[in-house]
Amino acid sequence: MQTVSTLADLRSTRLSFPGIVGLVPTMGYLHEGHLSLIRRAKEECDHVVVSIFVNPTQFGPREDLSNYPRDPERDLSLIEPLGTDLVWMPTAEMMYPQGYQTWVEVEAMTRPLEGAMRPGHFRGVTTVVAKLFNGVQPHKAYFGQKDAQQAAVIRQMTRDLNFPIEIVVCPIIREPDGLAMSSRNVYLDPEQRNAATVLYRSLTGAKEAYENGERGAEKLRQIMNDELASEPLAQVQYVSCADYDTLEELDTVKGKALLSMAVFIGKTRLIDNFVLG
Ligand code: AMP
Repeated sequence: MQTVSTLADLRSTRLSFPGIVGLVPTMGYLHEGHLSLIRRAKEECDHVVVSIFVNPTQFGPREDLSNYPRDPERDLSLIEPLGTDLVWMPTAEMMYPQGYQTWVEVEAMTRPLEGAMRPGHFRGVTTVVAKLFNGVQPHKAYFGQKDAQQAAVIRQMTRDLNFPIEIVVCPIIREPDGLAMSSRNVYLDPEQRNAATVLYRSLTGAKEAYENGERGAEKLRQIMNDELASEPLAQVQYVSCADYDTLEELDTVKGKALLSMAVFIGKTRLIDNFVLG
């Protein structure tokens, strides 16, 4: 396994890969969710490239960029046994040198949900992912359903900008009690960690109602909100029942829908979602 940081080193190593190349973009502090993407890429591709880059441009001024957990040595020791060929770890100065001024923006579908709560977040995400795509030039790129809106936005960007890349979205990996794995879970103290299971419970409640025939989107949102309200440590930011493709809020669930939420447990912001239909 090779580790590179500069674009020149990335390019020369990339040129030595004759077969299908899969890219797994990450911000590091890897857990089983990330590793599941790498395993899937390994199954489907001849060469696997993992990028590790805590992208400053997707963090808001009051977000956790400086505290974001980092442990590159541990990350490399987790990636190596999976048969990864190349790890790209650029620095912020390499990605955004002095005078940098080009941005990629997806419009309507970045406005609701995460986009409404985190202004500028998706502009940072789509810009860095476009740069990762141009650097690595993969045939396939692997993302998690955990960040459902991000996956939808990247699919849209890939289509709109004609990137010749297949976007593969992989299922959410959860802890045994249902909490979606996240690098941010390390911020939770034991009491908060226990409270954090309320996201999964509230999604499960709404899914059960849907499976029993409930199609009213407001009713499904209410079921989720009621469960979240039962946990004193949970502060809801949004709860949504939206169209799976457009991410617009629904009145009635007809086709595929996305139940999603962002909830603060203490200072830690957690997101989770289920797909219906
Ligand atoms: P991050 O390092 O948080 O930017 O995540 C890198 C990639 O891993 C993104 O495509 C995430 O959606 C994906 N990911 C994060 N957590 C999970 C999880 N619990 N299950 C599946 N994929 C995940």
